[in-house]
Amino acid sequence: MNFYVMTLFPAMVAEGLNTSIIGRAVEKGLLSITAVDIRDFSEDKHKRVDDYPYGGGAGMVMAPGPVVRACEHVKGLIPAERRERTRVIYLTPQGKVFNQKKAEEWAKEEDLIFLCGHYEGIDERALELVVTETASAGDYVLTGGELPAMLMIDAVSRLIPGVLNNEVSAEFESFQDNLLEYPQYTRPEDYNGHRVPEVLLSGHHANIERWRREQSIRRTLKMRPDLLAHAALSEKERQFLQTLLQRETEP
Ligand code: SAM
Repeated sequence: MNFYVMTLFPAMVAEGLNTSIIGRAVEKGLLSITAVDIRDFSEDKHKRVDDYPYGGGAGMVMAPGPVVRACEHVKGLIPAERRERTRVIYLTPQGKVFNQKKAEEWAKEEDLIFLCGHYEGIDERALELVVTETASAGDYVLTGGELPAMLMIDAVSRLIPGVLNNEVSAEFESFQDNLLEYPQYTRPEDYNGHRVPEVLLSGHHANIERWRREQSIRRTLKMRPDLLAHAALSEKERQFLQTLLQRETEP
């Protein structure tokens, strides 16, 4: 998978993603991350990329020229047969909020281009010319699109075969089946009087599996009940959820 990030702060992206699991995946050749400096595509002698907004108002707006030229440059790095279908994703608080489902969809691609705004954002004409979709990190406003791009690259990368040591660890996680993950424990068995749940020490795989599913359902009900409407539950698990809900409404 090849990630391209168009940004005014390429060092932030490159340095932020060159450690730990993602850094190792890049070293192994499973991923490539190319941060492209939009400023390099300014034709201004002072390398300016922003200007005052037409109509007045606070802040500065990124001009269309450098953004469009940076995108043409990035497209030129992608083999011709894949170029036209490559997604160009603009990070914006106005986009649809990114989630695990979107990460799974993007992980099927060979190339992804991210466009990071700064200041008050990017001239609308550049967005109309180059962007194929938008994505938001959440309902809050950040100073730039770099952190959202990095978090999305991280979420997508760990779904690419070989990036995580243990393939299974990406399979049974929060948001699979629209459930949050069950609680995890490691050694010691007894930490200052707080014991690991007995079932996990039993070696009885079916019981462990059932306990984990029930914990997932309990946890999702407590933390993210909105997910349960689309959760993939068996008939037995639905009954279990009903009992939990009944208990909640009991006086
Ligand atoms: N004036 C813009 C608005 O109200 O929609 C916000 C501009 S924001 C200060 C500057 C840049 O940060 C945006 O162009 C975008 O790339 C990025 N950004 C800020 N918040 C974001 C979020 N929640 N998700 C994704 N990108 C974000």
